[in-house]
Amino acid sequence: MKLTVVGCSGSFPSAESACSSYLVEADGFRLLLDMGNGALGELQRHCGLYDLDAIFLSHLHADHCIDMCAYFVARFYRHDGTCDALPVYAPDGAEQRLATAYADVPSATAMSEVFDFRTLKPGSFDLGPFRVRAERVCHPVEAFGIRIEHAGRAVTYSGDTGVCDALDELAADTDLFLCEASFTHGKEDIPELHLNGREAGLHATRARAKRLVLTHIPPWTDGERNLADAREVYDGPAELARPGAVYEL
Ligand SMILES: [Zn+2]
Ligand SMILES: [Zn+2]
Repeated sequence: MKLTVVGCSGSFPSAESACSSYLVEADGFRLLLDMGNGALGELQRHCGLYDLDAIFLSHLHADHCIDMCAYFVARFYRHDGTCDALPVYAPDGAEQRLATAYADVPSATAMSEVFDFRTLKPGSFDLGPFRVRAERVCHPVEAFGIRIEHAGRAVTYSGDTGVCDALDELAADTDLFLCEASFTHGKEDIPELHLNGREAGLHATRARAKRLVLTHIPPWTDGERNLADAREVYDGPAELARPGAVYEL
């Protein structure tokens, strides 16, 4: 299993990174986790525009899904003909949300001609060569974390979340824990919205995650401080996500 960080900036893009987007590959299958602002451009550094096999949207905040509008253009108006419908696993309401954001879809069915929307529910299912488990996490809109397993290895992605038990379950003994750390410990204290570095580290420790990668750090947040806070409470290898970083599992 191979994980590539396409974009990792939290809430809005930075000069260095697009918003949330991660490419997970195994056996030639390509699953994209989220497609936030700027992700479609960065994605083309790592795979062909039409080489995705499925997309997972953790939730419908713009910084996780808004480039799906741009991707609609690329698929619907492709010069070689409209693309087939690509499976998109997303919370309820994704099609309407994206059609509204696009504002002028050419027909009522256009979005579903190129995206096969499949409403996420908590639980496990097969997705290409992967066994995945999605669970609701703690955020102001319906939001999912996901665990992806392949050939005895596991990657867990938090999506956006505050502290929640579901995240410990998803990340239990995971080989790589891609966990958000948007807030700064001692500075922002808004429950049920985001984690800070310390909380991400505590989740990783409770879950016995083997490696922690902090992500979704907004441009106004000091990533190094969050990493230091995580390391105070988590003994395993920990680092900050970087655009273009590749993890082989
Ligand atoms: Zn976000
Ligand atoms: Zn969010």
